[in-house]
Amino acid sequence: MTNLRIGHGYDVHRLVEGRRLILGGVDIPWERGLLGHSDADVLVHAVMDALTGAARLGDIGKLFPDTDPRYAGISSLKLLAEVERLLGEKGFAVVNIDAVLLAQAPKVGPYRPQMAANIAEALGIEAEQVNVKATTEEGLGFTGDGSGMAAHAVALLEKLNED
Ligand code: MG
Repeated sequence: MTNLRIGHGYDVHRLVEGRRLILGGVDIPWERGLLGHSDADVLVHAVMDALTGAARLGDIGKLFPDTDPRYAGISSLKLLAEVERLLGEKGFAVVNIDAVLLAQAPKVGPYRPQMAANIAEALGIEAEQVNVKATTEEGLGFTGDGSGMAAHAVALLEKLNED
């Protein structure tokens, strides 16, 4: 069997007033933010679920329950660093990550390099191994009407040693 493992992650958070908008670890000035137990960084959550999926570590809801007060308001980059530690324990190295944010507004293009750099730093990999994209959904659905944001991510892992 090949030593490569692929995983897919998907996440959704509601947009509300009175919350900061944190995407890829970047605090983006905007009139609303994402609702959640942690900082609700939907992009990083999708990345984490792609990684945990590829490594068969379950999902972030299992690893970091939203009933646990330790995770209230926590930076999702800290949770991502914990995922990296778990990957290392299982002998996995990240090959690359590709993520896409689905959001009608604001325009996040200028922040994408910093998002990729933040994700790479939390994982201890090079920024060139992380790609962050963004798209609108043409005004359709819950991202289009601004009631929420979604993100997809895929991650490729390499198993460095056998169990
Ligand atoms: Mg989430």
